[in-house]
Amino acid sequence: MIDDTKCVKCRASSEVVKLEKCIVCYSHYCDDCAFRATGGRRLCSESCAQILMQGDEDELENEFGPEE
Ligand SMILES: [Zn+2]
Ligand SMILES: [Zn+2]
Repeated sequence: MIDDTKCVKCRASSEVVKLEKCIVCYSHYCDDCAFRATGGRRLCSESCAQILMQGDEDELENEFGPEE
């Protein structure tokens, strides 16, 4: 089985860059292309960040609760 994992944006292969998996669409993205969403989450794109935020609006309040 060939490992052809690539960044969805710049197409860098996992052999060249460290790839992370988007928790929304499961695409892989590299550090350079990562989108930093509210709460410090990292996703492949802003659109995935928006999907994620819509999905757990209820949880956000807890996450951003009293400052640590
Ligand atoms: Zn990339
Ligand atoms: Zn994504």
